Amino acid sequence: MARGKQKEQAREKAQKQAEARAGGKSQLNARAAGLQFKCPVCKTPAANYKIVVQHMEAKHPRDAVPSEESFQA
Ligand SMILES: [Zn+2]
Repeated sequence: MARGKQKEQAREKAQKQAEARAGGKSQLNARAAGLQFKCPVCKTPAANYKIVVQHMEAKHPRDAVPSEESFQA
């Protein structure tokens, strides 16, 4: 039943696109807020604190991860 599978894939694709749209919107909001989150080591901007933490652990494992409060302007 190739047809049914195609339909399913199309539905999955549409759902992913909808999610991407929603995600893009929230990213836009973060940008509008001025992207307060930045890596203190290499200054790479991040959409939120969680991403900074992930980035620090991946790229700068020897550096201390700053507290979330330290990013609030
Ligand atoms: Zn960095």
